Amino acid sequence: MAVPKKKTSPSRRGMRRSHEALRAEPYAECPNCGETKRPHHVCPHCGYYDGREVIAADKGLKGTVRL
Ligand SMILES: [Zn+2]
Repeated sequence: MAVPKKKTSPSRRGMRRSHEALRAEPYAECPNCGETKRPHHVCPHCGYYDGREVIAADKGLKGTVRL
């Protein structure tokens, strides 16, 4: 097993973790129903994308992140 030669200093650990901060999820308003949805994604509420119905409304998209 590979073992670190030196203990990671608090400074090094902090530099590594500088990229781990959580950000607020981006969201956009659906132009069809006004619900919040993820940008560039099919609206999970009404199933519309780019001005047309892509999937049946409230069919329950598998794996969709609801906002
Ligand atoms: Zn919608």
